Amino acid sequence: MNSTATQNRPELIAPEERVLSTLERDGSRRWLHPRLSKGKFWQARRVVSYLLILIFAAIPHISIKHKPAIFLDIVHRKFTLFGFTFLPTDTFLLALFSVSVLLGIFFVTALFGRVWCGWACPQTVYMEFLFRPIERLCSGRMGKGGEPSTRHSLVLRGLRFPLYLLACLFLAHTFLAYFVGVDQLRLWVTQSPFEHPMAFVVMATTTGLMMFDFCYFREQTCIIACPYGRLQSVLLDRDSLLIGYDKTRGEPRSARKKTLPVLSNSDARTGDCIDCTLCVQVCPTGIDIRQGLQIECIGCAQCIDACNDVMAKIGRPLGLIRYQNQNGMDGQKHRLVRPRLLVYLVVMTGLISLLVFLIATKSSFDMVVLRNVGRPFFFTDNNLVANEFLVKLTNRTDKPLDFNLSIVADPDISIRPLGDQLRLEPGQMMTEPAEIDAPATKFVMGSLTLKVRSTASDGTKLEQKCDMLGPFQVPTTNPSTPGDAHGD
Ligand code: SF4
Ligand code: SF4
Repeated sequence: MNSTATQNRPELIAPEERVLSTLERDGSRRWLHPRLSKGKFWQARRVVSYLLILIFAAIPHISIKHKPAIFLDIVHRKFTLFGFTFLPTDTFLLALFSVSVLLGIFFVTALFGRVWCGWACPQTVYMEFLFRPIERLCSGRMGKGGEPSTRHSLVLRGLRFPLYLLACLFLAHTFLAYFVGVDQLRLWVTQSPFEHPMAFVVMATTTGLMMFDFCYFREQTCIIACPYGRLQSVLLDRDSLLIGYDKTRGEPRSARKKTLPVLSNSDARTGDCIDCTLCVQVCPTGIDIRQGLQIECIGCAQCIDACNDVMAKIGRPLGLIRYQNQNGMDGQKHRLVRPRLLVYLVVMTGLISLLVFLIATKSSFDMVVLRNVGRPFFFTDNNLVANEFLVKLTNRTDKPLDFNLSIVADPDISIRPLGDQLRLEPGQMMTEPAEIDAPATKFVMGSLTLKVRSTASDGTKLEQKCDMLGPFQVPTTNPSTPGDAHGD
């Protein structure tokens, strides 16, 4: 029975080309255990990475102008960035900011390639400088062929996952501090989970996702899931800085070079690459840089460090694999200034200048006056035409503000909020119904344009134009019935 089933099983046809560096030819996961090369780029990246981890952990605790340096309050739709708070009414400012950041990413990528991925992306920083060190500590350095050493005791190897969990708990808590604030987080951490079950579920889910990412999914986040990684082919050009293998110098490869005396370039019979495959063994995404530019390359420079080490040992010049642009690698002219860079720069500078100007000139509060739904107008007991409006006020300051509403330059028209008091706490928003009353004689063709003014207790004034609706003809008697006297 079993042998029949085996016979009937369709034959496995392996793809002709490599599909993914993390897939075996039969489609199963290819687990990568990159070796470590402690060259000068790795040492520089290590300093940058630990500095970034420190900054990431410190930012939620830093205050600027009595506000957290970064606080992304999704529930209340308020985003505080370095002392300025984007409120729900700041859609335009937020859009300006987002487009500027996006253009900044395009600009840096076109200039320096995947420098973000290799040097600053949290995925790389935590994977290479937190989780892999834990792995190496518990499982040993990766030996030849990239397999973990089995010399470490079972206990030490078993310690790996509790340590991963601790790291993920730290990351998840720090990450959530950006969204809920450190005070709220402290409360959650010190109280029983039963007092805030939803917060506990969010925390546990975030920790679980981080465990999944750093313990299982790993380099596949960069290769498959990251949209920035997928965009590389359109963001880069032949003059962008990349990590590349110098084919002209390296080919044809020959393992014999190890035993040959060092030859000058002119009489070399083979290229400088001795086919030791160290550049492949250290690659965290499992690719061979000698096959040319690949989307999986995250620009971590581990292959440069490994190859430089080899070149130094065999007495050849360093830089067989190096930071270089494609034009430079092919011996063609390299242009630093390109039209697309200038476009990015000009548009980005314009947008950032506009954003800074708008933020600098922003008043202490926002006001929006809208017509209320329902009847277009009605007559009051005093034979005045009345319209209902909604006045939306937002206090942008960190002090309470009182507001007073009035109509600009026309004492015959009055506005009165229907609520008791127009007082807003710091950062608070309020929508207040208000009624505007005007004599019917003021209306021309059933319409009257006026300006509503709001004066805050700090002296700031804002005005907004709005239109009242009223009768086309002035009635001789009071129609008295609200809303039934529209026009004629
Ligand atoms: S590390 Fe350098 S010498 Fe070794 S295989 Fe890679 S490119 Fe060739
Ligand atoms: S090819 Fe080199 S730079 Fe690119 S990911 Fe691999 S080791 Fe890093």
